[in-house]
Amino acid sequence: MNELRQSLAGQIDHDGDDLVGFLSDFVRARSPNPPGDTREAAAVLTRFLDAAGIDFEIIAPQAEMPNIVASFEGGAGPGPHLVLNGHIDVFPVEDASVWARDPWSGDIDDGRVWGRGVIDMKCGTAAITRTFAYLHDVADRLKGRLTLTCVSDEETVGPWGARWLVENRRDAVLGDCLLSAEATGPHAIYFAERGVFWLTITIKTPGGHGAYGHTTPSASRVGADLIRDLAEIETIEGKLSDNVAAILGRAQTSIDVSHGAGASEILNKVTVNVAQVNAGIKNNMIPARCEIVLDVRLPIGLTKADVMPAIEAIVARYPEASIDHGEVLDPNWCDPDHPLVQILQTNAQALTGIRPDPIVCLGMTDARLWRYGGIPAFTYGSTTEGTAGIDENVTIDDYLHVVKAHTLSAFDYLTL
Ligand SMILES: [Zn+2]
Repeated sequence: MNELRQSLAGQIDHDGDDLVGFLSDFVRARSPNPPGDTREAAAVLTRFLDAAGIDFEIIAPQAEMPNIVASFEGGAGPGPHLVLNGHIDVFPVEDASVWARDPWSGDIDDGRVWGRGVIDMKCGTAAITRTFAYLHDVADRLKGRLTLTCVSDEETVGPWGARWLVENRRDAVLGDCLLSAEATGPHAIYFAERGVFWLTITIKTPGGHGAYGHTTPSASRVGADLIRDLAEIETIEGKLSDNVAAILGRAQTSIDVSHGAGASEILNKVTVNVAQVNAGIKNNMIPARCEIVLDVRLPIGLTKADVMPAIEAIVARYPEASIDHGEVLDPNWCDPDHPLVQILQTNAQALTGIRPDPIVCLGMTDARLWRYGGIPAFTYGSTTEGTAGIDENVTIDDYLHVVKAHTLSAFDYLTL
């Protein structure tokens, strides 16, 4: 078995230029979302699968947002069903003129591959597609089943990608365990994601002439007081099980390295982003209306229902204010002691010298959909630096590391 493992690693080294060319082609095939048309980029993946003689299915409940699903049964007996996941769509480009090179160039230069979406997450999706193919070649030696899911409609948290597959093709795509290659940086394996919910608080007052401030409360000033009070809910902490609390406690440094200094302080607390404040229509009038849009992030172990009483109590201090409720995505997590975590840690450390810690993702990814379905889901990928930024790029070393770490980890998991 060791020889086979070695030969897989050797094959990846041998294929370096081909792997890099594949990623470059994938980046060149534009797939910004919005609008979310991924057909050109999906074709890069399916051309590769075709050439490799791998059967796949295109599942496209929305024609311009295809999802690619491929699967094979291992020949070495029963075992777990591992699912690989990545998305094909990427963030759009706001202003191409400020980029040093064409955002869709896919240039291979300076030891890097350049272009929009290369970090989030064409590097990862290219890596898992190649991982699937490497393991397809040695299927007779694997136990269980391996499934590849390359999906659309992720960047806008839309319904036509992974969400559609998990809801409508559950048996095919849920599996027993998910491995995603979203960017995490070398110090992190995500086993959990914070939750989020959105609220709009509207303050209405009579309003009036700007010179007659004694005649009416100002909606904007009431709003400012209310915003100040909302800081009180940032003291609410998540409820962690003992093993998760211990693991996160040990991972403080990795959390700060992965998410930026200070992240370990807020990771287990409710945080409030005052995302929009809209008030007033004219500079000599007292605003009669102020709208405050809140983006509330939930630590793992809490739901919106745990936090709303505190928000309602604050809003109740201001009789002019009322609350409208927006979308809710609950936090989600799985067992950080899962065997796949240990496999990823061991392989990452052997390849880079850095042992990643299982930590909580600050944002959200499609992996949550598997966790909502009761399936353990883990993410390990390239650097997160420069995600969705100008001159987005990934180093070739980092990309090839992700290919190798995923291939060897999926191999180890399916040969346990
Ligand atoms: Zn992503």
